[in-house]
Amino acid sequence: DIRVDHLSKGFADTAALKDVCLSVRSGELMALLGPSGSGKTTLLRVIAGLEMPDEGRVFFGEEDATHVPVQKRGVGFVFQHYALFRHMTVAQNIGYGLRVRTRSKRPPSSDIEARIRNLLALVQLEDLGARYPGQLSGGQRQRVALARALAVEPRVLLLDEPFGALDAKVRKDLRRWLREIHEHTGQTTIFVTHDQDEALELADRVTILKEGGVEQTGTPEEVHEDPATPFVMSFIGDTT
Ligand code: ATP
Repeated sequence: DIRVDHLSKGFADTAALKDVCLSVRSGELMALLGPSGSGKTTLLRVIAGLEMPDEGRVFFGEEDATHVPVQKRGVGFVFQHYALFRHMTVAQNIGYGLRVRTRSKRPPSSDIEARIRNLLALVQLEDLGARYPGQLSGGQRQRVALARALAVEPRVLLLDEPFGALDAKVRKDLRRWLREIHEHTGQTTIFVTHDQDEALELADRVTILKEGGVEQTGTPEEVHEDPATPFVMSFIGDTT
């Protein structure tokens, strides 16, 4: 499991995270939900190792990962505008993380090819391995980004509004599809969104953030039916 313990992080005059505690179980899909500026992205970046906390710790299982550099944490991420390598084909993009490993950790080339084929099938892009990112739709590109993140078998998959830039219909399809992939792979996943419906539909549990602090963590049913604070009640109640 992944655990963050009393995490705080400030930027100049902003307290982006205030004493955040959170634990994500193995195989779980956790959504971080909150309005703009509530600290979701900062929390994800601290878990990834892209940002150092001012206080608190990050544990990956029993290991204190707080000071482990991003390349060694074994995380995969997909951001809203996390660009694919434009000069590489889809298949090359997906295999990239495996090919750049040090020789002792790099799988044989034939294994990498097989892994790429499996991942292309998983994200339903079997026939598009030879294309370049510029020849794909936005939704297809995010599916490639997801396959690339999964290729290295990350300990945790971190998704920051991965469908944020797509239109409503594509978003909805990808949401359902991500849920299916999650059920299929059992990949521990943390998913950032400001969209209540998306969080409630996708996640096993939801953590609601407000101004850098955790308001409530619970299953979609719990936060919906038994909101811990007036903020949760109004935020969850907004669109349902
Ligand atoms: P959004 O949904 O708009 O992306 P968020 O919930 O992900 O918002 P964060 O991006 O984590 O929120 O930002 C939390 C707070 O920290 C905000 O007030 C933001 O302005 C501030 N902040 C984040 N990153 C930086 C930075 N690099 N420098 C200065 N302030 C920052």
